[in-house]
Amino acid sequence: MNKKVAVITGGAGFLGSHLCDRLLKEGLKVVCIDNLLTGSLDNISHLFQNENFVFYKHDVTNFIHVPGNVDYILHFASPASPIDYLQLPIQTLKVGSLGTHKVLGMAKDKNARILIASTSEVYGDPAVHPQKEDYWGNVNPIGPRGVYDEAKRFAEAITMAYHRYHNVETRIVRIFNTYGPRMRLQDGRALPAFVSQALSGEDLTVFGDGSQTRSFCYVSDLIEGIYRLLLSDEVDPVNIGNPQEITIKEFAEEVLKITGSNSKIIYTPLPEDDPKVRQPDISKAKRILGWEPKVERGEGLKRTIEYFREQLKIK
Ligand code: UDP
Repeated sequence: MNKKVAVITGGAGFLGSHLCDRLLKEGLKVVCIDNLLTGSLDNISHLFQNENFVFYKHDVTNFIHVPGNVDYILHFASPASPIDYLQLPIQTLKVGSLGTHKVLGMAKDKNARILIASTSEVYGDPAVHPQKEDYWGNVNPIGPRGVYDEAKRFAEAITMAYHRYHNVETRIVRIFNTYGPRMRLQDGRALPAFVSQALSGEDLTVFGDGSQTRSFCYVSDLIEGIYRLLLSDEVDPVNIGNPQEITIKEFAEEVLKITGSNSKIIYTPLPEDDPKVRQPDISKAKRILGWEPKVERGEGLKRTIEYFREQLKIK
């Protein structure tokens, strides 16, 4: 029997590369597309000998040609850390809009099912807590984060349009803060920043007073949720994340404890439009996917810190 084929855009990134691993393990052929703007070949080099894996270095805001049959498309290409999209605002807008248009066009052409990576950022600085899928959000379109938030909101809109007008089989996952091996040490997000600071004896930079909250999901849990959503019949967006909420100050303290570091915490200005709270309501994912996260934060942090230690040795 012929193997099913999945195209993964952003396949050399943090989440994309874990999806490549998972779909190969499930017996699919994987076509990984990435322009390596924020992704890295290090994340997929272990797959180059796999006969079911191919890699194309390509910017998906331009026409995408993949020869042959395609069954699934997973659109994960985008800068995703606030520092990245502040430095790459136009690319972020383009991949969320033009890139999503291209992959939807390919899905229509190939008669493939497509899953789009959306984000908790569509809720902006939320006025509803925790966030449920039927909340429409509180986003500043012209603020520094607008380039990511609005691109992803557009991505959801055009995905639903392709579903409604072209009958494309679409899925939308709203991803909340995720962590784990293959995050970039220098990507500027809270966890890599705190861990690299703790391991190199520098002060941990907590933005604002650290009372803002986030809810961190370990990557293997997230990938499981996405895989289940891909195989489900659900067209409307589904939150996938870990509802265990923590303040950023407590999170920094946790990193200090687990690394055994003597670093201090310093407080620096809060970036503009930084959401004050964030916590997924995952009752929909529980109900329709039978999914909930399994990895406790303490355990996930240990595994991730181990990975970062290795990375620092290699550097
Ligand atoms: N943050 C921080 N210090 C850092 C990096 C981030 O205090 O060195 C804060 C940031 O202001 C935010 C939270 O940690 O409130 C999570 O930030 P991250 O960049 O990881 O992702 P976000 O959830 O904001 O997209």
